[in-house]
Amino acid sequence: MKTYLEPNEINLLEDQAANLRDRLLIRVLSRLGCRVSEALGISVSDIDFNTRTVSIKHLKTRLKLSCPDCGTSLGRRHAYCPECGNKVAEAVAEAEAVVKTHKPKRKHKAKEPVAVA
Ligand SMILES: [Zn+2]
Repeated sequence: MKTYLEPNEINLLEDQAANLRDRLLIRVLSRLGCRVSEALGISVSDIDFNTRTVSIKHLKTRLKLSCPDCGTSLGRRHAYCPECGNKVAEAVAEAEAVVKTHKPKRKHKAKEPVAVA
């Protein structure tokens, strides 16, 4: 099963868009390869027109948690380590707080201008 669109298929999709906003959204998603939620989070200040780059906030962040005492992998809901039994709720909450405050941004450079005529 094909899981991507060819450039001509993207053009057809753009041609069928009911309005400029939808057309731009289709183009941004296809050119930048970002998720819808990431595209919707783009503001004007995220766009550098000189370098033709767009900074995108990662909304889906993988959080790898492990017990500080024995290194066993933990889930977000773990309050106690399933291996050593030590309390880990605090360490899990701290790791989640770090991820929430340091949302990394990645820069995307469009190969072609994204502007829609
Ligand atoms: Zn442990």
